[in-house]
Amino acid sequence: MNSCLLCETPIAQKSSWKTLLALEKQTEICQDCSKNFKRADIKEVDTMLDQITSLYTYNEAMREYLHQYKFLQDVALASVFANELHTLLKGNATIIPIPMHPEKRIERTFSHVEELLKSACIPFADILEKIGTEAMGEKSRAERLAMESLFKMKPGTAIQPGTYILVDDIYTTGTTLRHAATALKQAGATHVEAVTLIRAE
Ligand SMILES: [Zn+2]
Repeated sequence: MNSCLLCETPIAQKSSWKTLLALEKQTEICQDCSKNFKRADIKEVDTMLDQITSLYTYNEAMREYLHQYKFLQDVALASVFANELHTLLKGNATIIPIPMHPEKRIERTFSHVEELLKSACIPFADILEKIGTEAMGEKSRAERLAMESLFKMKPGTAIQPGTYILVDDIYTTGTTLRHAATALKQAGATHVEAVTLIRAE
Protein backbone atom coordinates (compact mmCIF):
# COMPACT_ATOMS: atom_id res chain seq x y z
CA MET A 1 0.00 0.00 0.00
CA ASN A 2 1.25 3.48 -0.87
CA SER A 3 1.22 6.33 1.55
CA CYS A 4 0.47 9.98 0.86
CA LEU A 5 3.61 11.88 -0.16
CA LEU A 6 2.53 14.86 1.90
CA CYS A 7 1.05 13.49 5.15
CA GLU A 8 2.06 9.80 4.99
CA THR A 9 -1.50 8.52 5.47
CA PRO A 10 -1.86 5.13 3.73
CA ILE A 11 -3.77 5.38 0.45
CA ALA A 12 -6.06 2.63 -0.76
CA GLN A 13 -5.42 2.35 -4.47
CA LYS A 14 -8.29 1.81 -6.83
CA SER A 15 -7.05 -0.30 -9.72
CA SER A 16 -8.72 1.01 -12.83
CA TRP A 17 -7.88 -0.25 -16.31
CA LYS A 18 -5.82 2.93 -16.73
CA THR A 19 -3.52 2.25 -13.81
CA LEU A 20 -3.25 -1.41 -14.80
CA LEU A 21 -2.13 -0.39 -18.26
CA ALA A 22 0.15 2.23 -16.70
CA LEU A 23 -1.65 4.98 -18.62
CA GLU A 24 -2.22 6.75 -15.38
CA LYS A 25 0.08 6.90 -12.40
CA GLN A 26 -1.01 5.65 -9.00
CA THR A 27 -2.44 8.35 -6.75
CA GLU A 28 0.41 9.98 -4.87
CA ILE A 29 -1.46 12.08 -2.33
CA CYS A 30 -4.50 11.37 -0.17
CA GLN A 31 -7.91 12.94 -0.73
CA ASP A 32 -7.56 15.24 2.29
CA CYS A 33 -4.29 16.70 1.01
CA SER A 34 -5.68 16.87 -2.50
CA LYS A 35 -8.64 18.96 -1.27
CA ASN A 36 -6.26 21.59 0.12
CA PHE A 37 -5.04 22.52 -3.36
CA LYS A 38 -7.29 24.88 -5.27
CA ARG A 39 -7.72 23.82 -8.89
CA ALA A 40 -8.30 26.81 -11.16
CA ASP A 41 -7.62 26.04 -14.85
CA ILE A 42 -7.02 29.70 -15.64
CA LYS A 43 -6.38 30.63 -19.27
CA GLU A 44 -4.89 34.03 -20.12
CA VAL A 45 -3.10 35.73 -22.99
CA ASP A 46 -0.10 38.04 -22.83
CA THR A 47 1.81 40.28 -25.22
CA MET A 48 4.34 37.60 -26.14
CA LEU A 49 2.31 34.48 -25.32
CA ASP A 50 -0.58 33.15 -27.33
CA GLN A 51 -1.98 31.40 -24.25
CA ILE A 52 -1.00 30.85 -20.61
CA THR A 53 -2.73 28.01 -18.77
CA SER A 54 -2.35 27.65 -15.00
CA LEU A 55 -3.64 24.60 -13.14
CA TYR A 56 -3.89 25.79 -9.54
CA THR A 57 -4.11 29.02 -7.58
CA TYR A 58 -1.50 29.89 -4.96
CA ASN A 59 -2.67 29.17 -1.42
CA GLU A 60 -1.27 27.93 1.87
CA ALA A 61 -1.12 24.28 0.77
CA MET A 62 0.72 25.27 -2.40
CA ARG A 63 3.13 27.50 -0.47
CA GLU A 64 4.02 24.54 1.76
CA TYR A 65 4.32 22.22 -1.22
CA LEU A 66 6.73 24.54 -3.04
CA HIS A 67 8.78 25.04 0.09
CA GLN A 68 9.21 21.32 0.64
CA TYR A 69 9.78 20.54 -3.02
CA LYS A 70 12.08 23.36 -4.08
CA PHE A 71 13.83 24.58 -0.97
CA LEU A 72 14.00 21.41 1.11
CA GLN A 73 14.73 19.54 -2.15
CA ASP A 74 12.27 16.72 -1.69
CA VAL A 75 12.45 15.54 -5.31
CA ALA A 76 9.85 12.78 -4.76
CA LEU A 77 7.23 15.54 -4.62
CA ALA A 78 7.69 16.12 -8.35
CA SER A 79 5.10 13.40 -8.92
CA VAL A 80 2.24 15.00 -6.92
CA PHE A 81 0.78 16.72 -10.00
CA ALA A 82 2.10 14.28 -12.63
CA ASN A 83 -1.31 13.11 -13.90
CA GLU A 84 -2.66 16.66 -14.32
CA LEU A 85 0.47 17.83 -16.11
CA HIS A 86 0.50 14.76 -18.33
CA THR A 87 -3.10 15.34 -19.41
CA LEU A 88 -2.46 18.99 -20.17
CA LEU A 89 0.87 18.61 -21.98
CA LYS A 90 0.57 15.37 -23.97
CA GLY A 91 0.36 16.03 -27.68
CA ASN A 92 2.49 17.32 -30.48
CA ALA A 93 3.78 20.62 -29.13
CA THR A 94 7.44 21.06 -28.26
CA ILE A 95 7.73 21.42 -24.50
CA ILE A 96 10.38 23.79 -23.13
CA PRO A 97 11.04 23.95 -19.38
CA ILE A 98 12.08 27.38 -18.13
CA PRO A 99 15.78 26.84 -17.40
CA MET A 100 17.52 27.72 -14.17
CA HIS A 101 20.81 29.52 -14.10
CA PRO A 102 23.54 26.80 -14.00
CA GLU A 103 24.86 28.02 -10.63
CA LYS A 104 21.38 27.93 -9.15
CA ARG A 105 20.94 24.42 -10.44
CA ILE A 106 24.05 23.24 -8.63
CA GLU A 107 22.85 24.92 -5.43
CA ARG A 108 19.36 23.34 -5.72
CA THR A 109 20.75 19.95 -6.90
CA PHE A 110 17.89 19.43 -9.38
CA SER A 111 15.82 21.44 -11.84
CA HIS A 112 12.34 21.55 -10.31
CA VAL A 113 10.58 22.20 -13.63
CA GLU A 114 12.40 19.39 -15.48
CA GLU A 115 11.57 16.97 -12.66
CA LEU A 116 7.85 17.87 -12.92
CA LEU A 117 7.99 16.98 -16.62
CA LYS A 118 9.95 13.75 -16.10
CA SER A 119 7.43 12.65 -13.49
CA ALA A 120 4.60 13.41 -15.89
CA CYS A 121 6.34 11.37 -18.66
CA ILE A 122 6.41 14.43 -20.93
CA PRO A 123 9.45 14.62 -23.23
CA PHE A 124 10.97 18.09 -23.39
CA ALA A 125 13.53 20.05 -25.39
CA ASP A 126 16.27 21.76 -23.46
CA ILE A 127 16.95 24.54 -25.97
CA LEU A 128 16.90 27.70 -23.86
CA GLU A 129 19.57 28.90 -21.50
CA LYS A 130 19.51 31.54 -18.86
CA ILE A 131 21.89 34.37 -19.57
CA GLY A 132 24.58 34.79 -16.91
CA THR A 133 23.90 37.33 -14.20
CA GLU A 134 27.55 37.90 -13.15
CA ALA A 135 27.97 40.96 -15.34
CA MET A 136 24.64 42.30 -14.14
CA GLY A 137 25.63 42.14 -10.48
CA GLU A 138 25.60 45.86 -9.94
CA LYS A 139 22.29 46.43 -11.64
CA SER A 140 19.05 46.48 -9.70
CA ARG A 141 16.43 43.82 -10.32
CA ALA A 142 14.25 46.33 -12.16
CA GLU A 143 17.16 47.30 -14.42
CA ARG A 144 17.92 43.68 -15.17
CA LEU A 145 14.30 42.90 -16.02
CA ALA A 146 14.16 45.88 -18.33
CA MET A 147 17.18 44.62 -20.23
CA GLU A 148 16.65 43.04 -23.56
CA SER A 149 16.86 39.35 -22.72
CA LEU A 150 17.10 36.92 -19.85
CA PHE A 151 17.25 33.83 -22.08
CA LYS A 152 18.88 32.80 -25.32
CA MET A 153 18.74 29.78 -27.59
CA LYS A 154 21.43 27.20 -26.80
CA PRO A 155 24.16 26.99 -29.46
CA GLY A 156 23.29 24.52 -32.21
CA THR A 157 19.53 24.53 -31.54
CA ALA A 158 16.91 25.71 -34.02
CA ILE A 159 13.18 26.37 -34.02
CA GLN A 160 11.03 23.81 -35.85
CA PRO A 161 7.55 24.51 -37.22
CA GLY A 162 4.73 23.96 -34.73
CA THR A 163 3.59 25.01 -31.29
CA TYR A 164 5.99 25.62 -28.42
CA ILE A 165 4.84 25.37 -24.82
CA LEU A 166 6.96 26.90 -22.08
CA VAL A 167 6.57 25.26 -18.67
CA ASP A 168 7.21 26.88 -15.32
CA ASP A 169 6.11 26.17 -11.78
CA ILE A 170 4.57 29.53 -11.02
CA TYR A 171 3.22 32.48 -13.02
CA THR A 172 3.31 35.73 -11.07
CA THR A 173 4.11 38.84 -13.10
CA GLY A 174 4.84 36.94 -16.31
CA THR A 175 8.27 38.55 -16.79
CA THR A 176 10.11 35.22 -16.98
CA LEU A 177 7.63 33.69 -19.43
CA ARG A 178 7.62 36.84 -21.61
CA HIS A 179 11.41 36.87 -21.81
CA ALA A 180 11.54 33.16 -22.67
CA ALA A 181 8.79 33.56 -25.30
CA THR A 182 10.67 36.52 -26.78
CA ALA A 183 13.82 34.39 -27.18
CA LEU A 184 11.81 31.68 -28.99
CA LYS A 185 9.95 34.15 -31.20
CA GLN A 186 13.14 36.00 -32.14
CA ALA A 187 14.54 32.63 -33.21
CA GLY A 188 11.51 32.08 -35.46
CA ALA A 189 8.79 30.44 -33.36
CA THR A 190 5.35 31.59 -34.48
CA HIS A 191 3.12 30.17 -31.74
CA VAL A 192 4.29 30.11 -28.13
CA GLU A 193 2.07 29.11 -25.22
CA ALA A 194 2.85 28.50 -21.56
CA VAL A 195 1.66 26.10 -18.90
CA THR A 196 2.30 26.73 -15.22
CA LEU A 197 1.37 24.65 -12.23
CA ILE A 198 0.36 27.71 -10.22
CA ARG A 199 -1.09 31.16 -10.85
CA ALA A 200 -0.09 33.66 -8.17
CA GLU A 201 -1.42 37.20 -8.00
ZN1 LIG B 1 -2.15 13.36 2.64
